Amino acid sequence: MINTPVADLHCHTVASTHAYSTVAELAQAASEQELCAVACTDHGPVMQDAPHIWHFANLHILPRVMSGVRVLQGVEANVMDGGRLDIDNELAGKLEVVVASMHGGIMPDGDEECTTAAWLAVAENPHVDIIGHSGQPAFAF
Ligand SMILES: [Zn+2]
Ligand SMILES: [Zn+2]
Repeated sequence: MINTPVADLHCHTVASTHAYSTVAELAQAASEQELCAVACTDHGPVMQDAPHIWHFANLHILPRVMSGVRVLQGVEANVMDGGRLDIDNELAGKLEVVVASMHGGIMPDGDEECTTAAWLAVAENPHVDIIGHSGQPAFAF
């Protein structure tokens, strides 16, 4: 049996400046691929190309469905040393999808104990829905 993707839950929009699509374009592309949902998970505030924190606080004004696709409002939060995220719990609790990821220059790399401790703290965080790209060699755990 072939696994067919049903949703893309880790997407960046033009709000993260290394990405090039608007929310409407993401929804349109998801519709063309017959996905049921797409999540806007732009970079959390400590990343160099992150949108202003108001971007996340204001996501609720977007339509829940665009081009027939459920558009989930989220963030790709940065995991920091110790496993804390770069968005506060109040905001994390309001978003529909919180991806937690480690990125170079933010989380210390090459230290398996430190990375393991941070992931364990992330696993205890009730606001985190998805662990992002955890297979990076720099962040072995
Ligand atoms: Zn990213
Ligand atoms: Zn990432």
